[in-house]
Amino acid sequence: MPELPEVEVTRRGVAPHLEGRTVTGVTLRHTGLRWPFPEGLAQMLHGRRILKTGRRGKYLLIMFDHGTLIVHLGMSGHLRILQVGEPPQKHDHFDLLVGDQVMRMTDPRRFGAVLWHAHDEGAVDEHILLRGLGVEPLEDAFSALLLYRQTRKRSAPIKQVLLSGDIVVGVGNIYASESLFKAGINPKTPAHRIGMARYEKLTIAIRETLAAAIEKGGSTLRDFMAADGQPGYFQQTYFVYDRTGQPCRNCGVEIRQLKQGQRSTFYCPNCQK
Ligand SMILES: [Zn+2]
Repeated sequence: MPELPEVEVTRRGVAPHLEGRTVTGVTLRHTGLRWPFPEGLAQMLHGRRILKTGRRGKYLLIMFDHGTLIVHLGMSGHLRILQVGEPPQKHDHFDLLVGDQVMRMTDPRRFGAVLWHAHDEGAVDEHILLRGLGVEPLEDAFSALLLYRQTRKRSAPIKQVLLSGDIVVGVGNIYASESLFKAGINPKTPAHRIGMARYEKLTIAIRETLAAAIEKGGSTLRDFMAADGQPGYFQQTYFVYDRTGQPCRNCGVEIRQLKQGQRSTFYCPNCQK
């Protein structure tokens, strides 16, 4: 599943091909993805200039002066930039044409989304899918103090609090496991039992883990966006994620796995207290 780093790398990949360009067409090859495509989308975007791109959590934002196109990659979505005329494949459901190039969305499982938020409905942050989101983990608003204050009454395990996305967005399953390992915090620890010093470590670990993943993805951006590229995501080396039974890279003790709210959590019982 694409997480925040993949979405940010995707944004950086498509941005130079979209920003400042004028939409010359929209092709829909299905009635919709998770939700129906917005009615009249082609007419709404044709001839309009893309001002800039943005991202909020895992939502990619393509901004126009009359509104914002909100794109979510869902479970299996992928965007590529191709030359116009490239024949579509089976799961290519949405094309945004900009002159001689096309941004094409592939989404085999159709859990993704393409939505429209009109300018006269207010700021895009007020969209129903965006308004409840926590702060961005790579922006200044994210801090140890924020985590500390917002968890004083939360007895849920810290891993699940991170995943809920209402304090901080984009710390998905992989990055929550990895960040908790780096901070030395057991994923089962009730969030309200964690003090400021440990939240300082966790904040730094989350920022570093996400930034490193974005950097790694950025370095493979050409393969990632290539016409013949597989719609998969960049491979990374993990400390604990998906390493059950393998030796901890820090202490050699076997990595353990447990289920928390239907999701697998990976941790080192020795390094994480
Ligand atoms: Zn260890």
